Amino acid sequence: MSRTMATQDKKQLPVVGDRHVDPHSYPEGVAFLDGQYLPMSQAKISVLDWGFLHSDATYDTVHVWNGRFFRLDLHLGRFFGGLEKLRMTIPFDRDGVAEILHNCVALSGHRAAYVEMLCTRGASPTFSRDPRQAVNRFMAFAVPFGSVANAEQLQRGLRVAISDKVRIPPASIDPAIKNYHWLDLVRGLYDAYDRGAETALILDFNGNVAEGPGFNVFCVWDGKLSTPSIGVLPGITRRTVFDLCAEEGLAATATDVSVAALREADEVFITSTAGGIMPVTEIDGVRIADGKVGPITSRLMARYWQKHDDPAWSSPVNYPEGG
Ligand code: PLP
Repeated sequence: MSRTMATQDKKQLPVVGDRHVDPHSYPEGVAFLDGQYLPMSQAKISVLDWGFLHSDATYDTVHVWNGRFFRLDLHLGRFFGGLEKLRMTIPFDRDGVAEILHNCVALSGHRAAYVEMLCTRGASPTFSRDPRQAVNRFMAFAVPFGSVANAEQLQRGLRVAISDKVRIPPASIDPAIKNYHWLDLVRGLYDAYDRGAETALILDFNGNVAEGPGFNVFCVWDGKLSTPSIGVLPGITRRTVFDLCAEEGLAATATDVSVAALREADEVFITSTAGGIMPVTEIDGVRIADGKVGPITSRLMARYWQKHDDPAWSSPVNYPEGG
């Protein structure tokens, strides 16, 4: 007989960090699943879903800031591109998915949200091993905005370790299909924690820097920016940095970035929908340049957040009247 968490002694709850926490707690938010809008705690899928069993899924995450989606069109475009490459079909077009995302955010009431759309291969009603016989499953949810870097790290810069783990090569998985193949990234993270760092960068199959758990990376050398070109997710924030650089008259290229080039850079930052442009000031325990957040990084961070109010880059969430 199982006991519910409500009646369970608090001391029996697992300790995470320095607190006893309910392992069944969920962030405040709203999900869309099987035609229904549900609280996050009720949005559940079968253990037989291939998304879970085989990581056979694609997804995208867009954020809402001050009640506005940032570059939603680009996120929808990447998501639908992934669906096509994985031969998945969903019963919604781009407008239909956009409407569901608006509804999830509006129902959640969040003004700053992390909004995910995803599709799993689903399960086969006949338990066939043939993926063509699985019923693909679309879902979406909106939860509070989250960032790779916390407020203190955004101020002083992240401490990063470079792990020797290699990102799954593009010949195996096209990185443009945003996916949950994260074992390399998670193992890299543990390497970083073991070395006292806060997050990790891992390598591409040539030994150059690739990306980290949920972010791309840039370095600045003599006022010019570069970011790894192969074996990485073409991030929307990465693309946004290119667009901002074009406006600011800064040179930016996608190219090989060696570990040495990163260590010797004038400035380093990472980019993600989960946090935007985030400074890095230490790599493997050694400061980058003078160890302070650099001027180009600071300028781009400011421009990035300014664009969140600009109708050319963002669009308002359809909250209910007065909401
Ligand atoms: N690289 C990986 C592996 C990611 O998972 C993500 C985002 O989740 C990124 C890079 C950054 O992409 P974006 O800027 O579109 O959030």
